[in-house]
Amino acid sequence: MIDVIVTGAAGRMGREVVRTVTAAEGMRVIAAVDPGAAGVSLDDGAGGSIAVTGDLHEALAMPGEKVLVDFTVPSVVESNVRAALAAGVHCVVGTTGIGAEGWKGIADDAPEGVCLFVAPNFAIGAVLMMRFAEMAARYMPHVEIIELHHDRKLDAPSGTAIHTAARIAAARSEVPTAPGRETEVFEGARGAEVAGVTVHSVRLPGLVAHQEVLFGGQGQTLSIRHDTIDRTSFMPGVVMAVRGVIGRSGLVVGLEELMGE
Ligand code: NAP
Repeated sequence: MIDVIVTGAAGRMGREVVRTVTAAEGMRVIAAVDPGAAGVSLDDGAGGSIAVTGDLHEALAMPGEKVLVDFTVPSVVESNVRAALAAGVHCVVGTTGIGAEGWKGIADDAPEGVCLFVAPNFAIGAVLMMRFAEMAARYMPHVEIIELHHDRKLDAPSGTAIHTAARIAAARSEVPTAPGRETEVFEGARGAEVAGVTVHSVRLPGLVAHQEVLFGGQGQTLSIRHDTIDRTSFMPGVVMAVRGVIGRSGLVVGLEELMGE
């Protein structure tokens, strides 16, 4: 039985994680941590409930091998993860807004034998979208990313867009210039530049998480698009990661690392 601590348990993703871990074979939630919602009762999806606690350190001190699943906010994820790793607790992190270098530094400070798993996107379709974009970039180097999310998302661009841009940058042999940036009529109209790839971020109510990778070539375009229409799309990936960190050590980035991609 894998004992799971969920941080951000009362949030949109955290609530889904509590229900999913409760339903999954061979794992259970031993603590639901969310200081702003301490005392609140969360539906575990199995006819029961679990009380939210505000005390992460008490949860980390519980006996046995544990996995922390963090879907919180960019300003607290680092301290949650540092505390967990120092206590010998494996981490599965979905919170976005910390860069690759940041995660490397955190993992370098962790004791031997604990795993820090970070995924910018836990949806299998999004992992495939990034893989296909990487493949296409070898043949079509002119590319821009449009990522679209709900209006309460704190970070921009999304972690998925940053990860996709990095993979495109590593795959393409030529970096075409993105025209029009110097002649923008309104600043920002041409988007942000991430690893040499132009990224546009849309934030609107009604959206969940969406991304289109748009390639242009002579007389043709290629669109690779993924749409998350429900947060349950992330849950098989979360379960895979909770199982995947057991027996692993050090930093692992991206669900593709666990899918044998
Ligand atoms: P959300 O609804 O705002 O949930 C975040 C929760 O964390 C809130 O309940 C917040 O409480 C709580 N929190 C704040 N400080 C905390 C602390 N010190 N300890 C424990 N909990 C704390 O956000 P969300 O939509 O669930 O998204 C959470 C994160 O996951 C975001 O970074 C988002 O980008 C990311 N995400 C990743 C994926 C992926 O596949 N990797 C998918 C979806 C979302 P308060 O409201 O009281 O501050």
